[in-house]
This record gives sequence, C-alpha cells and structure tokens, in this order.
Amino acid sequence: MRKKLEISLVRTKVYDLLKEEILSGEIHLGQRLNVRKLSEELGISPTPVRDALLALSADGLVRVVPRVGFFVTELTENYINEIIESRIMVESFCLKKYFDEIRNSPDILKLYDEVKKVIDTENRKLFDESDEVLHMLIVKSSSNKTIIDFYEKLWDKIDLVRHLNKRYLDSNKEHLSIIESILKNEKESAIKFLLRHIENVKDETLKNLKTSKVTK
Ligand code: ZN
Repeated sequence: MRKKLEISLVRTKVYDLLKEEILSGEIHLGQRLNVRKLSEELGISPTPVRDALLALSADGLVRVVPRVGFFVTELTENYINEIIESRIMVESFCLKKYFDEIRNSPDILKLYDEVKKVIDTENRKLFDESDEVLHMLIVKSSSNKTIIDFYEKLWDKIDLVRHLNKRYLDSNKEHLSIIESILKNEKESAIKFLLRHIENVKDETLKNLKTSKVTK
C-alpha cells in the first residue's frame, strides 16, 4: 500500500517536471524522450517515468511511436488548426452564453487594468499572464466543470504554441477591445473581436511555424 503511494507520488512529480520543461521549451519540440536515460538522470526506476510519459501523451504533449519511443509533440499546421478550432468552439460559446457572468465578474476590471499595464510596459510576461486570465475567465464563467476541464487541457497545448505569437502587443490591443465591449455590454461586438483575435493568433502562429521550423 505504502509502496504504491510512493510510486504514484514519484510519477506525479516526474509528470509535473517534464510538463514544465516541455512548456517552457527547455525540452525541444520533437525531441526524443528516452525512458532509461531519464530514469538514470532522475535516479528513479523506469516505471514512473514511463507512466508520466503516457500521461503526457494523453494530454497531447507527448507522442508515442510504437516500438520506437516517446517524443515531444511536434507542431504541424494540422495540429495548430485543431487547437484553434477547439478554442473557437469553447470560447465563443462561453462568451455568448455566459456573457452576463463574465461582465459581472469582479475579475474583469482588474484584468482591464492589467491589459492597460501591458500597453505601458510592453512586458511580454505580463501579457502572457493576462492572456491566460482573460481566456480562462471567459470559460470559467460557465461554471461548467466538463467544459473547464476540457479547456484546461487545451490550454497546455495553447501554451505549447504561444511563443510563436510574436505580435503580442497587437494581441494585447485585441484583448482591450474584447474587454471594453464586455464592459460596455456590447455582446455582439465582444464576440466579433474575440473571433478576430483567435483568427489573428492562428495566422501569426502558422506564419511563424513556417519560418521557424527549427526548434528554439
Ligand atoms: Zn489572447
């Protein structure tokens, strides 16, 4: 019983560690993840490493090639299109259906200030944070646990491609338009601005995917 618990704790730790390294770009996209090598580096048995990699593959961050091994998911045009379509589906649905919840949320004014701060500071990290807060706020206002769970998994994939969006200051202006429409209670224009924003993110991501095929 105790042994089992230890194994699952180690697996969770390995999962968290690898996920962080993948999302931060420390482990490159497409890079092979060798179970034996990783378990040696971490000083643990191969089992929790393999389990963690399988869990990451269920999240879509790692790809399993039968009889070959594990690889960090490579970004393809198709993969990016899938993420964008899923975003449009979830975010536009939530913005439309839960518009009043979003508008009345105490977080929206705070977020408005954050977004304006990005304009003043041009701080990329601040932008990334407010980006996540805005899109999560739209989805979390649904209070629909199934949708939120789905979107949180999707966000990991969004995170994986986020560095390809180099026009963050333009994206930030788009965020401002979305938030201002919400605050002015203009639902249709908020939806229009959100859809335009996600389309722009798609175009930019695909453009930079083509020019920066080599991983960071
Ligand atoms: Zn955004």
